[in-house]
Amino acid sequence: MQRIAFIGLGNMGGPMAANLLKAGKQVKVFDLVQAAIDPLVAAGATQAASALDAVADVDCVVSMLPAGKHVRGLFMGEEGIIAKVNSGTLLIDCSTIDADSARAVAAEAQSKGIDFVDAPVSGGTAGAQAGTLTFICGGSETAVERARDVLDIMGANVFRAGDSGAGQVAKICNNQLLAVLMVGTSEALQLGIDNGLDPKVLSDIMKVSSGGNWTLEKYNPCPGVMEQTPASHGYQGGFMTDLMVKDLGLASEAALSSQSSAPMGALARSLYQAHARAGNGKADFSSIFNYFSRKD
Ligand code: NAD
Repeated sequence: MQRIAFIGLGNMGGPMAANLLKAGKQVKVFDLVQAAIDPLVAAGATQAASALDAVADVDCVVSMLPAGKHVRGLFMGEEGIIAKVNSGTLLIDCSTIDADSARAVAAEAQSKGIDFVDAPVSGGTAGAQAGTLTFICGGSETAVERARDVLDIMGANVFRAGDSGAGQVAKICNNQLLAVLMVGTSEALQLGIDNGLDPKVLSDIMKVSSGGNWTLEKYNPCPGVMEQTPASHGYQGGFMTDLMVKDLGLASEAALSSQSSAPMGALARSLYQAHARAGNGKADFSSIFNYFSRKD
C-alpha cells in the first residue's frame, strides 16, 4: 500500500502521518486546522482540499479524529468516504470511539464490499512520534492482516481483539484502567510529598515496587520528575483531559449495557469530569495531579 490518505492531524495523527512519510509512503493529508497540516506538508505530504479530495485514488485511508460523531460524519452517508472510494481501498480508523459507531461504519463499508478496521491505539504522543504504538484492532482477520502493512510502520504491536468494534471495547477497558492508575499514582505521590518525601525518590522506589505501573514508568504526573512528560511542560500536548472524560464515558456506557460492576472507573470518571469543569479540559490528563496538590 503506497498511496495513503491521512485525516485528522492532531497530537496523535500528526506524528503518525509523519512516520508514514519517513517510510517512503505517498501521503495525502487533511485536517480542519491549517496549522496541523503545515508541518506535514513541509515533511513531504500533499495537502488535500477536503477529506473527499484526500481519499481519491489511494490504497488506504487512515483517520485519527476526536470522537464517534466525527468518524460517522467522515465515513458514512451520501457524502461520506465510503460512498466515494474505490472498493479495493482499505479504511482504518485509529480514533477512540464508541463500539456501536465503529460497528455501524464497518457495516456500511461491508455493504459496499469495502474493508474497514477499527484500530484505536495505546502509547500516547511519545509512542506516536517513536512509531511504537500498540494498535488494538477490530475487524475480519483478512482486513486486519491487510492493515498490518500500514500499522507496522506506525506501531510496535498490532493485536486483533475480535470482530468490528472489538478494538474499541478493548481500548476503553485499557483507558479505564489507565485513568484509575493515573489518579492513584497522583494521590500516592502527593501523599508522599505532603509527608516530606522527594517525588523523584518516591517515584524511583514505587516504579520497581509493587505499586509500579505505566504512569510511573513513562508518564509521571508530577512536574520535574521526568523531563519529557507533559507534566514537565505545563501539561501541554499529550492526551487532553476532555478526551479522557470521553473515554471514561464510553467505558461507563459499556458497563451499563453489560451490567458490569465498575466502581473504580465510575470514580475516576467523576474526578476527571470535575477536573475538566474546573477549566482543565484542554490540559493533559496527568494534570489530575493538581487536584490533589495543596493550595494552602
Ligand atoms: P486532537 O484533538 O489533538 O486531534 C484531532 C484532530 O482531528 C484535530 O487536529 C482536528 O482538527 C481534527 N479533526 C476533527 N474533525 C475533523 C474532520 N471532520 N476532518 C478532518 N479533521 C478533523 O486529538 P488527539 O490527541 O490526536 O486524539 C485523537 C484520537 O486519538 C482521540 O479519539 C483520542 O481519544 C485518541 N487517542 C489519543 C491519545 C493521546 O495521547 N493524545 C492516545 C491514544 C488515543
